[in-house]
Amino acid sequence: MRITSGTVVAEGGTFRGDVLIEDGRITALGESLSSPGPTIDATDCWVLPGAVDPHVHVAVGDDPNMEPVVEGLPEASAAAVMGGTTTICTYVRGFADRSLAQVISDEIARGEDAARTDFAFNALFHPGQDLEGDVRAAARLGVMTFKAMMAYHVRGLMLDDAELLRLMRAVADVDGLVLVHPENGVATAYLEEVERRGGEVAPESYLRSSPGVLEAEGMYRATMLSRLVEARLLFVHLSARESAELVAWLLAGPDAARIAVETQPHYLALTDDVVRRRDAVGKIGPPLKEEDDVAAVWEALLAGRISHVSSDHSPRTLAMKLGGPDIFHAPYGGISGTEVLRPLLWGLGFETGRIGVEQLVRLTATNAARRYGLYPHKGAIRVGGDGDVVVIPRDAELREIRPDVLHGRSDYTLYEGLSSRGFPRDVVRAGRHVVADGVYVDHAPGRYLGRVEQDGGSGA
Ligand SMILES: [Zn+2]
Repeated sequence: MRITSGTVVAEGGTFRGDVLIEDGRITALGESLSSPGPTIDATDCWVLPGAVDPHVHVAVGDDPNMEPVVEGLPEASAAAVMGGTTTICTYVRGFADRSLAQVISDEIARGEDAARTDFAFNALFHPGQDLEGDVRAAARLGVMTFKAMMAYHVRGLMLDDAELLRLMRAVADVDGLVLVHPENGVATAYLEEVERRGGEVAPESYLRSSPGVLEAEGMYRATMLSRLVEARLLFVHLSARESAELVAWLLAGPDAARIAVETQPHYLALTDDVVRRRDAVGKIGPPLKEEDDVAAVWEALLAGRISHVSSDHSPRTLAMKLGGPDIFHAPYGGISGTEVLRPLLWGLGFETGRIGVEQLVRLTATNAARRYGLYPHKGAIRVGGDGDVVVIPRDAELREIRPDVLHGRSDYTLYEGLSSRGFPRDVVRAGRHVVADGVYVDHAPGRYLGRVEQDGGSGA
């Protein structure tokens, strides 16, 4: 397989020329490379590494995982690949009748049967779980990223400080990474109770119950706890000015080498007005915030304090989002977004001139691959790396983001009204031409990416 005459954003720099892929791996970069296999003409096109979306929520088997969603790994990966994402990490957790290790094994089989991207897993922990035993069991199966909720006390998902510290220690022992949702779940539960005691269930009262300062508090507390056991942390959604300012302080201090920050396009593109207008449909954990917070997340991103951007894909229907009596009872999660992850960053960042194409690639592929232990096979166009490449025409048409043009099972998108020229014309995964002219044409399943060691990564 050859991709010829494109503007190739490779790890070593951007150049005009060809990418040669043999046996699923990139074997050469340069000009006028020859190969007997098929060719994709990328004249007047950008050639980028496939995006890596490390934060995707799906149902595992028949289990809803955290809260009901309408896609499993096969469906979410089918949507992801249409937006140029060739690797996703989905969440798994153990259940009363099915151990974490069993769920991981079942999901590996399911993905190797029907996933359309390569895939890895993040293990989600909950109170009362055998933290140490499950970390070791998951690590033996190649899962090296472990999620702790400091929020969601009301839903029974919050780890208290002792459990958090135990998880950090267990994960540090296997040289893994702790993924942290840092909002203070006890304080938000109290604020929620105060709002509801007064009979308040309007979007405004929901927003008041999860202020940004509680995200900053969780980040600070988790970072200090992590010092005790030298655990590596990744805060998975930066949403507020208070926490963005705290991150600047933390990254200038002694913990800088052990902590990193991820955010999502919705914290760069949407404000709490969406929640006021659309009520429970706009509910996301952590909640969308004010314009000033969006500006702070952008400042952090442009200053290189955000490692990468993920989707927090949580595919639901309008009926599911609106199924509860009020916004407090509606499902949390992000929004359906894995397909538009890179197209959104392209539109919001690259097309507006805020970021360059190489920074776009770091934010949507390289840095996530490094943090999640998938580099150097994933996340960059480099000799020896996996042959995961997307082709985006320079004069691609501006495409509006609407539910009827996306490929997931959600019947709504909060990104409606936004548009992008960053949807791929061609997607190559492991040297196979899986998307041609915007149509999925291949049925070889993706591969499970068991991880053995982590790469600390570098800033954006
Ligand atoms: Zn999430």
